[in-house]
Amino acid sequence: AYEPMLVLLVLVGLFGAWGAYHWLSQPRAADEVIAQARARGEFVPYLQPLVCPQSGRWLGAEVLMRWRDGDRVLAPGAFIAEVEQSGSLGAITRDLMAATTSGLSGARLPAGFHLAFNVTASQLADPELVGLCRVLREKLGEAVVPVLELTERETFDLAGHGGQLAELFSLGVELALDDFGTGQSSLSYLSELQVHTLKIDRSFVDAIERDSLGKVVLDAVIALGQSLGLKLVAEGVETAAQRDYLQAAGVDVLQGYYFARPMPLADFVRQLPGHA
Ligand code: C2E
Ligand code: CA
Ligand code: CA
Ligand code: CA
Repeated sequence: AYEPMLVLLVLVGLFGAWGAYHWLSQPRAADEVIAQARARGEFVPYLQPLVCPQSGRWLGAEVLMRWRDGDRVLAPGAFIAEVEQSGSLGAITRDLMAATTSGLSGARLPAGFHLAFNVTASQLADPELVGLCRVLREKLGEAVVPVLELTERETFDLAGHGGQLAELFSLGVELALDDFGTGQSSLSYLSELQVHTLKIDRSFVDAIERDSLGKVVLDAVIALGQSLGLKLVAEGVETAAQRDYLQAAGVDVLQGYYFARPMPLADFVRQLPGHA
């Protein structure tokens, strides 16, 4: 009398196990959505000018990822964690570099123009990075300096990737430490890597008008950068008072809504000086 019951239980168990296995080996729904959005070209570069404090001239641009879904344009805060989890961040970063390179290839960029991309430490080891930087130099000319802004999201040991880094440096690529002064940026990279630039985090720029401890850290970061002979970029500059303070402190490059917001690549090209 127990037998049909037993057979049924075993069947249910097997079916359940098969279902669980199948479910677990499927790509997650979010990964599918991201892969499809990538295939449709919905991840696009926005550019924000890097500005000379004295003259207001554009010295370069930071490339910032946007997800353009119909009329909606999403900033990375809304989706970058999902992209990272899906394992597509590397591929999307390469797409952004290629799209930016071809989008700027008709533009006349001033000599020494810095073009900065955000990468994680593990992406520095991506063997395709060298080729992308080489194509960028070929298409945009020797006058353009590719910059890789290192944002610390995971700890990654770059020991053993010295060859790749040397290759990048030989192409004229520069490294910047992003969000410097926050926990997102590792001081240890300063001694491990040949860094050219410190990007001072927005939270310290905010502190300028609030006379807080943050201002003490700001002054210390500026002094550190200057004593190491590094270039200093301040991000998140929103007011004239902040600009004045940073300029007087000798910060080399400013970035923020006070000057310009991140904009679609075509708008950036149209606003370049000398654009017909
Ligand atoms: P981040 O690298 O620190 O980039 C600067 C962020 O500050 C950008 O936010 C920019 O739009 C914003 N910003 C610039 N000026 C001002 C200002 O005056 N006021 C304020 N309130 N904000 C300002 P966004 O574009 O939302 O990007 C957020 C973060 O997402 C970036 O921070 C970066 O860590 C990450 N991210 C963006 N694009 C990429 C990418 O292509 N790859 C990777 N791995 N990360 C990216
Ligand atoms: Ca950045
Ligand atoms: Ca930053
Ligand atoms: Ca920041």
